[in-house]
Amino acid sequence: MKIYLNNSLTKKKEEFKPIKKGKLGLYTCGPTVYGYPHIGNLRAYLVWDILKRFLVSQGLKVTHIMNATDVGHLSSDADSGEDKLEKAAKKEGKNAWEIAKFFIEVFKGNLKDLNILEPSKFVRATDTIKEQIKFVQILEEKGFLYKTSDGLYFDTSKLANYGQLANIQNIDLQEGARVEKNPEKKNITDFAVWKFSPKDSKRDMEWDSPWGMGFPGWHLECSVMSRMYLGDTFDIHTGGIDHLPIHHPNEMAQSEAVTGKLQANYWLHNEFIRFKDAKMSKSAGTFITLDDLKEKSFSPLALRYFVLQTHYRKGMNFSWEAMKSTKAGLENIVREIAFYDKPKKISIELVEKFNQAMADDLNTAQGLAILQETLDLDLPTATKLATIYKMDEVLGLDLANLRKRALQMPISAKKLLEQRSEARNNKDWTKADDLRDQLQEMGVEVLDTVDGQKAVKIEL
Ligand code: AMP
Ligand code: ZN
Repeated sequence: MKIYLNNSLTKKKEEFKPIKKGKLGLYTCGPTVYGYPHIGNLRAYLVWDILKRFLVSQGLKVTHIMNATDVGHLSSDADSGEDKLEKAAKKEGKNAWEIAKFFIEVFKGNLKDLNILEPSKFVRATDTIKEQIKFVQILEEKGFLYKTSDGLYFDTSKLANYGQLANIQNIDLQEGARVEKNPEKKNITDFAVWKFSPKDSKRDMEWDSPWGMGFPGWHLECSVMSRMYLGDTFDIHTGGIDHLPIHHPNEMAQSEAVTGKLQANYWLHNEFIRFKDAKMSKSAGTFITLDDLKEKSFSPLALRYFVLQTHYRKGMNFSWEAMKSTKAGLENIVREIAFYDKPKKISIELVEKFNQAMADDLNTAQGLAILQETLDLDLPTATKLATIYKMDEVLGLDLANLRKRALQMPISAKKLLEQRSEARNNKDWTKADDLRDQLQEMGVEVLDTVDGQKAVKIEL
């Protein structure tokens, strides 16, 4: 099946052709681990998980690399301000290493809760410092760098096609419009590849280098890691839309300067989740985390379902109301499939239709519509179940597990169900109704069918 992806590089939806037949390299810009990821950040990892699952379902072997930024991401994109980790450490009375360790675990836990497949490798920036220093040396030897009072900067005017990805020419480059002023920079678009440690204080994270004590610029790690694990040019590079004007052009520039080649062939960007009419943002403090959702009794999979409803290139608004109806929608699916016969023999036609939707630049909304159509069709339930399980290999809603859990009754409920069955046999309808109410309070829904009494407990 031909797969079409919307490539930010060519600004076109185009057929995806891997460099090597049957396999591909995928790089996802990972989290900056100084705080709890918010559901906007998690949207980024969810949509790229669906991309990966779909590519795998099409028989492609995917090597997926993700980084954890645990050093060098400064509070301003102008390469000034405090390091986000060092700042968080000071605030918490810890050191940056402890902050990184803690939030990497939080992040991994969130991925697991959301049923996101682990990357082939999840690499910390601080684990590749030696390689990053070597990379900067090459840039220096090739004459791409200049020194300022606070670090080594990449001279973007030395690269003919700098900004090709983001169409930089069309972005307002007035000083101060895109990034803050830095009078020592030769060009507004120049960026730090290596920063010097401050002279008057000691950082938690700093390394000796040919240029003295310091730490890598934020963009460096992705160029270095992607090259280490995926080669000079790899297939797909993903990230949030905020990476399009700065982080990704800078990654690309460094890589091209070193290898003379294009870093990646396809660049994909997801749009934001907005909350109360503003971008959900860690630094602005306006965000919802997975724990906030859990506290309000929303399962992480309900968030997954929420994200799937909108195409990744469209912005989406979060509201508790929307979350409530999303959760009800997923519950309806589980309720519907709970009593289906054991899965047997997929409908090739429906799976094909689903794959066509996904191959059209990951049209997950359409994919969900086809899943619903499958549920509504007049087909044997064994076929319907097998078919939606097949689709769920890509959607990742973990429907088989949700169904299994819905049918598992706690012992207390089992007892009440036995009593109710007995009451019904004795035609004691009042008692049966009373027991139904008791079960309802425990979250157990009872259905009286021609095959007798059936029960589900749906918790999402
Ligand atoms: P960070 O941890 O801030 O480096 O961001 C991790 C990922 O989340 C990046 O790919 C960002 O582009 C993405 N991101 C940040 N904010 C949002 C948002 N509100 N909605 C969707 N993606 C976001
Ligand atoms: Zn990156």
